[in-house]
Amino acid sequence: MKIVLVEGDITEQRVDAIVNAANSSLMGGGGVDGAIHRRGGPEILEECRALRASRYGRGLPTGQAVATTAGRLPARWVIHTVGPVHSRSEDRSHLLASCYRESLVVADTLGAGTVAFPAISTGIYRWPVEDAARIAITAVRQAAPAVVEEVRFVLFSTAAYAVFETALQDIG
Ligand code: ADP
Repeated sequence: MKIVLVEGDITEQRVDAIVNAANSSLMGGGGVDGAIHRRGGPEILEECRALRASRYGRGLPTGQAVATTAGRLPARWVIHTVGPVHSRSEDRSHLLASCYRESLVVADTLGAGTVAFPAISTGIYRWPVEDAARIAITAVRQAAPAVVEEVRFVLFSTAAYAVFETALQDIG
């Protein structure tokens, strides 16, 4: 599986699936979640609402992932995953790794060959980017999806891109 880094906006990526750093309500929020719903249109939120009603009455648990249509976005699907809020007193890195792993399982089930990820939990959820990058790349490297051929990390700033570049060089 190929790992590619780009600096840019995930809503503009022409890939099979983009991953949303959602919150457990699945009802939209700020950051990348807000951008995806804004650009993707109301269809995504309608499907999220249906998922809440059918399978996730208590919300999507942290570390899990679920797919919807991508509405008006150039991608075919949006995979929603809930990153952990960073904590100094508790190690939640297994939950962050789980977001990447579970999203790739969902992508495989969909038959998505190319998947774009944002830097989950590094915005509103305050995860330090250096640490998040290491966890993200390690989790993707350890996954062995059958269908996914390319994982694209879409970094929203030059600084985040540089951090991921260093982590990718270190981890390989
Ligand atoms: P979280 O709640 O998981 O921290 P955020 O959306 O607040 O989620 O931030 C996750 C990362 O996504 C941050 O690094 C933020 O800069 C980045 N981000 C925000 N908007 C976009 C976008 N349109 N495309 C790609 N990344 C984005």
